[in-house]
Amino acid sequence: MTLGEAMAFARAKIDRLDARLLLEHATGCTHADLLARPETPVIGPAYEQFAEWVARRAAGEPLAYLVGEAEFRGRVFQVSPDVLIPRPETEVLIDLALEKLRGLAAPKLVDLGTGSGIVAISLALECPAATVATVDLSAEAIAVARNNAGRLGAKVDFYQGDWFAPLAGQRFDLIVSNPPYVAAGDPHLALDGLPHEPPMALTDGADGLECIRRIVAAAPAHLNSGGWLLVEHGYDQGEASRNLLTAAGFKSASTFPDLAGIDRVSGAHL
Ligand code: GLN
Repeated sequence: MTLGEAMAFARAKIDRLDARLLLEHATGCTHADLLARPETPVIGPAYEQFAEWVARRAAGEPLAYLVGEAEFRGRVFQVSPDVLIPRPETEVLIDLALEKLRGLAAPKLVDLGTGSGIVAISLALECPAATVATVDLSAEAIAVARNNAGRLGAKVDFYQGDWFAPLAGQRFDLIVSNPPYVAAGDPHLALDGLPHEPPMALTDGADGLECIRRIVAAAPAHLNSGGWLLVEHGYDQGEASRNLLTAAGFKSASTFPDLAGIDRVSGAHL
């Protein structure tokens, strides 16, 4: 089989971009090779890997889990089925966090529920003055995030535990989180590869606001005066999140849209 034939074989089963990325990962060829030399043979193990991936992708497995990596903010992060696949909508959480950190000499921040580590690692790399801590309940997720921090050269302190539990006595200038916020039974959980992702990273098993409630309620005891809390949430959770923030004593609660114009992050300060 040749590169061109492999593409034709995959195109009958899966999306063109996915086919190309899987072929590039399986063979080590580049997009340019694919275009310029479609007659290049695809042999033995590379072909077997490619054919297996195409079948699994056609059955709904996310591309990122097949190739073991995903891009976020121009960096490649390793991912496994122990962590949520990075979503572009989380970019707004990073941009807002950087805005709040600007002008602070040596800020301390914590990312709650880090998963693959994209939030903590992006902030550590893009705000080198900050001291960055991160928490996850899953030891497997922490292993993935620690590996990403090492590969990308980010200095991050890791804690395993339930939200603020491992942070007793610590205060921060900024708390950020992309918690599980999909309600139990939301039909979305059955679509688009989500059944392959860790349920504990997607849903709180309740109304979708349970983790946000817990984080907002406990955050004031872990923030310095003037400190900010920023949480990612679902398209219809802005108002509820702002109400929770205000009820917990936060000031100027606001909601910010993601790149698609959908309400995605709410935040406020003490
Ligand atoms: N944005 C994700 C989705 O809707 C959910 C991420 C999360 O729960 N933190 O697929």
